[in-house]
Amino acid sequence: MDIKKQLQNINNSINQAEIKAQRSSGSVQLLAVSKTWPAATLRLAAQAGQNCFGENYLQEALVKIDELSELELEWHFIGPIQSNKTRDIAAHFDWVQSIDRLKIAQRLNDQRNEQQAVLNVCIQVNIDNENSKSGVNAENVISLAQQISQLSRLKLRGIMVIPTKTDHLSQQQSAFLRAHHLYSELQQQFPGIDTLSMGMTHDMQIAISAGSTMVRVGTGLFGQRLTPNV
Ligand SMILES: *Cc1c(COP(=O)(O)O)cnc(C)c1O
Repeated sequence: MDIKKQLQNINNSINQAEIKAQRSSGSVQLLAVSKTWPAATLRLAAQAGQNCFGENYLQEALVKIDELSELELEWHFIGPIQSNKTRDIAAHFDWVQSIDRLKIAQRLNDQRNEQQAVLNVCIQVNIDNENSKSGVNAENVISLAQQISQLSRLKLRGIMVIPTKTDHLSQQQSAFLRAHHLYSELQQQFPGIDTLSMGMTHDMQIAISAGSTMVRVGTGLFGQRLTPNV
């Protein structure tokens, strides 16, 4: 994979999707999802101009964050969070997009160092109400947002969604539009909400047409992951 060229391709597709949706250029951010890839691969992306990276597994991420510490990168935690991981997440990440319960938010808040900037967070929403999926059901998002907004070391930035995998365009659109609706509702109640994190390699155009402000792209940028199903 020629990472520099792939990064250009992805940024071009984002730009075209913005134009097609009559949205302003630069209104959609690219998060490079770098799980399973070594620090050297991320370094290539960074050299080509990418500075936001998303990681799902804490131990793996800490190694890369340390190895790339001389670069000014922005690290987003996007994987499931167990309570015993919050201290390291609070210490080493700039964003956490996968908040799905108050307890985790409280721990991150309590463990975020006073010397550090506030931790940016998104609530992960289970937009299709899938039984096995992490995330808060849509009807519980506002009350969790209210609680998070009381936590002074966290800054609530928006929501993150991973809809059910499907090849049906109308089903994809429907999930993304429901997420956008919820996002707009949140924006009315909470100042500072500016992030609707949705869209991955295979559905980013549809997500952008539905109002995504951040797409999370792994495969499209780095190639097929060698470890499947992660
Ligand atoms: C792996 C992952 C992605 C990236 O998926 P691709 O299909 O490789 O682009 C995006 N978001 C989350 C939460 C992920 O775990």
